[in-house]
Amino acid sequence: MIEKTVAELSAALAAGDISSQELTQAYLDRIAQFNDELNAYITVCADSALAQAKAADAARADGNSSALLGIPMAHKDIFCTDGVLTTCASKILNNFVAPYNATVVERFNAAGAVMLGKTNMDEFAMGSSNETSHYGPVKNPWDTERVPGGSSGGSAAAVAADLCAMATGTDTGGSIRQPASFCGITGFKPTYGRISRWGMIAFASSLDQAGPLCKSAEDAALMMNAMAGLDEKDSTSIDMEVPDFTATLGDSLQGLRIGVPRQHFAEGLSADVEEAIQASLKEYEKLGATLVDIDLPNNHLSVSAYYVVAPAEASANLSRFDGVRYGYRCENPVDLEDMYKRSRSEGFGDEVKRRIMVGTYALSAGFYDAYYRKAQKIRRLIKNDFNNAFKEVDVIAGPTSPHTAFKLGAKSDPVAMYLEDIYTIAVNLAGLPGMSIPTGIVNGLPVGMHLVGQDFAEAKLLNVAHQFQLATDWHRRKAPLTSKEA
Ligand code: GLN
Repeated sequence: MIEKTVAELSAALAAGDISSQELTQAYLDRIAQFNDELNAYITVCADSALAQAKAADAARADGNSSALLGIPMAHKDIFCTDGVLTTCASKILNNFVAPYNATVVERFNAAGAVMLGKTNMDEFAMGSSNETSHYGPVKNPWDTERVPGGSSGGSAAAVAADLCAMATGTDTGGSIRQPASFCGITGFKPTYGRISRWGMIAFASSLDQAGPLCKSAEDAALMMNAMAGLDEKDSTSIDMEVPDFTATLGDSLQGLRIGVPRQHFAEGLSADVEEAIQASLKEYEKLGATLVDIDLPNNHLSVSAYYVVAPAEASANLSRFDGVRYGYRCENPVDLEDMYKRSRSEGFGDEVKRRIMVGTYALSAGFYDAYYRKAQKIRRLIKNDFNNAFKEVDVIAGPTSPHTAFKLGAKSDPVAMYLEDIYTIAVNLAGLPGMSIPTGIVNGLPVGMHLVGQDFAEAKLLNVAHQFQLATDWHRRKAPLTSKEA
């Protein structure tokens, strides 16, 4: 049962084939069995999960039939959860118990979902491998010597290994899509503004967006129905009608124009990943789509622009962690300055410090024009590239990552790690919706295909993925960890 999609579990719950309490217990057992090895969860909330499941079963008996009612899920540990430890995988928040729920968490609670726990991640969502976590790296369920991707690696590994039915993640430069790709699951980053960021610990506020990590595009649509919408607590959340994201899942792809960016099939892409993506593009042709070669001429500037903008915003956002208001405080400070300095020096990890230094430098009076303003101009060029491309095509498709999951410790050079997001980062700079779906397996490791849609055209994008999943079974392939136990 635990390997099923949310849509299937929802039907099973509705039919009375299983109760939420039984299902929740099954996931808790699975977590007990595999979490030591995978390190996907930082916190497991067994008692409150079983209580929520009991309430969900009672609500169902009372006639509530909401799609997510009683579905066991996990939240990335970047979302504040009332009364539950929220660490952002940082030592500086290792004792922080949030006094409120993030809007995303509230919405899943309102939909009746069951929270199994909080998942591991890169510290403050900075990374592409989950190795920057204060709580240690997450292991990829397909090969535990490899990384699950990052920063939402705990959520991706938990979904892939059936340690939950669905999970939340956040994506600032690729953090939902790249781990989804590495773990062989579906990950969806909505348009900037579609989902409230309130209560989601800020990394780079103009880029951060929450989204689903799950087993199918249909499940992502079900999750989007719960997550999306205006929130008056977040002034960047958009006041726009939220569609039923499942309503268009039956649409035909006949006549769909798929843009294939030349720049995504150039140097750096591994040959076997390219082969898997090309095969999937052929599958789309069979479904009635036409492939159109397009150019995203400024894509090569996206990583550089991002690594000015994101650290700049991070340096401002992370100034609130000072040892006074939240979390970790150094021992025996001699005065206020000593307390600030040592709390931050001891509380933040190396990558976070690197970003704070880069960001502070880029924003400083003498360098603002040379770096920050220039990066913002490049951001506009990148957005224009997409606007031009979308004059000719409906969606854009390519690889999510240049390769499959790499070995733990393999990328010690920060810049090599930054280049992980070469295909995904421009999408955040442009604010567009993007997703990764499983599209092949090479040498025993999953490959992800990246699909990008137009602003707020999430429903269409989800259907483009859904039609592919109806015609193929890559999203049904399981990590060997699963079969070991079966
Ligand atoms: N890997 C990128 C970074 O380290 C993106 C992370 C993210 O999307 N949160 O900043």
